[in-house]
Amino acid sequence: MAVVKANAYGYGMVEIARAAVSAGATWLGVATLDEALAVRARLSQNIPILVLGYVAPEYLSVASRYNITVTGVSVEWIQEAARIVQQPFNFHLKIDTGLNRLGCKTIDEVRTVMTIISLNPNLNCTGIFTHFATSEDMQNKSYFHRQLASFYDFLDVIPNRTDKIIHCANSGATLYHPEKPFFDMVRLGKALMGPPNEALKYLIPFELQHTFSLHSILDVVKQLDANEKIGYGGEYMTTEKQWIGTVPIGYADGWHQQFKTSYVLVGGKRVPIVGRISMDQLTVALPQEYPVGTRVTFIGRQGNETIIADEIAQKANQPRSEVFSSLSNRLPRVYIQDGSVISIRNLILES
Ligand SMILES: *Cc1c(COP(=O)(O)O)cnc(C)c1O
Repeated sequence: MAVVKANAYGYGMVEIARAAVSAGATWLGVATLDEALAVRARLSQNIPILVLGYVAPEYLSVASRYNITVTGVSVEWIQEAARIVQQPFNFHLKIDTGLNRLGCKTIDEVRTVMTIISLNPNLNCTGIFTHFATSEDMQNKSYFHRQLASFYDFLDVIPNRTDKIIHCANSGATLYHPEKPFFDMVRLGKALMGPPNEALKYLIPFELQHTFSLHSILDVVKQLDANEKIGYGGEYMTTEKQWIGTVPIGYADGWHQQFKTSYVLVGGKRVPIVGRISMDQLTVALPQEYPVGTRVTFIGRQGNETIIADEIAQKANQPRSEVFSSLSNRLPRVYIQDGSVISIRNLILES
């Protein structure tokens, strides 16, 4: 399963879904019914789609109409679904083995659900799954092992288990515990876009490449005198004559204030962001004059210098997925295959 929720972690849901399906993914995972409908409308294949998050039972008729599989999140949810649905729908039952968000928490709850299902032919349970809390923690694997063992205990009470798709592994489990037999399917989100964590790259059983770069340009370049303030609040003050470049990316594009201490690449060199990041632009301190239009790289490579997303994430003390998934629709996405541009999507114009 290719997990393409949250605009495929910021990369662009439809393009990534398409690429994943053409590369062999047989399921797509999303977080909401709206995301599922958007994928269903844009992809020609009638590929199975699972909504991994909550879908209100009153929308089950919509899910059913568009052949979208939803998640059974609790006994209460199943009861409500059984009470109101008028047509068959498919769902995967989520088991809570320790993440303590969605899912049945006890064997008794699962037995109750199985009884409700057996009495209502509209409730078509086609899968069983759980989700790990610590699959990327290589220092302490015990909680991961406990969750996996607990999942086996739950599976023992599922009738007709072989008719159902059993799954539990996210990127961390799949990449860092490759010795485990993960049942019928793995659910890969962040691993689709490259090695999720530089420090753990050596554990991955096959090579993964970074797939993403973020570039802009210098749109205005000017030389300031010493003691001039830059940006809102005048937070930065020049100490000597200094070349300053303005770049048309700001926090509304997802380049948050917390990324202020990070660098960008200009002319193959690392240069600092100076002053407060504005909604639509930011400023960088340049070692010399550069022409307007010069490329500014936020994530990616220029000459011998590279900035990877992990560096930004670490400085901002955020997981890498948080950096990517907050990159907004205002940034046009350019898709490249074998060195050539295959499509450019402007998600604002298309929405
Ligand atoms: C987001 C999500 C995934 C994918 O997680 P990654 O760690 O990005 O691979 C898998 N399963 C569920 C239930 C999810 O919500």
